[in-house]
Amino acid sequence: MSVFKDYVDQVQGWLVDVKDYLAEQRISNEGLQSQLDEIERSLQADYKQKEEILALQDKVKQVQADLRGEVEGQEARQQSVPAGQHTLPPLPYPYNALEPYISEEIMRLHHDKHHQAYVDGLNKAEKMMKQARESGDFSLIKHWQNEAAFNGSGHYLHTIFWENMNPNGGGEPHGQLLKQIVKDFGSYAAFKKEFSEVAKQVPGVGWAILVWSPRARRLEILMSQLHMILTQWDTIPLLVLDVWEHAYYLQYKNKRADYVDQFWNVVYWPNVANRYEKAHKLQWTPF
Ligand code: MN
Repeated sequence: MSVFKDYVDQVQGWLVDVKDYLAEQRISNEGLQSQLDEIERSLQADYKQKEEILALQDKVKQVQADLRGEVEGQEARQQSVPAGQHTLPPLPYPYNALEPYISEEIMRLHHDKHHQAYVDGLNKAEKMMKQARESGDFSLIKHWQNEAAFNGSGHYLHTIFWENMNPNGGGEPHGQLLKQIVKDFGSYAAFKKEFSEVAKQVPGVGWAILVWSPRARRLEILMSQLHMILTQWDTIPLLVLDVWEHAYYLQYKNKRADYVDQFWNVVYWPNVANRYEKAHKLQWTPF
């Protein structure tokens, strides 16, 4: 029996774990796979020399380094959206779930067509900006920046908007979020009135947005013309209301106010509270 049997047994166990892990994580890397196969074959040998064990150790170390690189790459891909690769998030409930307050027809058109158009527009702008970055030709950068702001705000705000609403919505907020609303607006009723007024009075098309300001450490209501004009950067949207005509016209025609009033029946406060709790942890030096 080899005096190095313990180590060889350890490598054998490690090899099984690594292969299981690669299968679980659906990592297919040919180079890594052939290194593992080679180690598996070499484990059949009868290890007698110290040099043989050291060579085995080197192979194991190489696999561990390559595996680390592969896993880090995998994590980076999961944690960020590469330029030009945004996708339309699925609606978190059926298209008819917000009836009668927001019709199925509107939800289909709004989500599948309008939101998709913002995703496509943002991807196009990001790809063109990446191209400019690579070629050093920034002659059209103003145009693509404008497209990225318009479509990017459109994509991100709609992504929040779908989750801000829910068939189990309505009612009033609770807990810490309610306390903060009372602190900053006097009462929930006062907040609701102000948010509704802002939404009804957006000039043309746009959004009403409840934000948390990490710097001022308080809630504020903003009126956004289009998706990005008059918005205040350095804030985090918590509750957003789409008052573009495509969000209500099929059902409410020119009566935006009725749509705004009905919106409160589907506001999903647990979602807003979750956004608030996470956003609230951010804090920058006040000025
Ligand atoms: Mn919209």
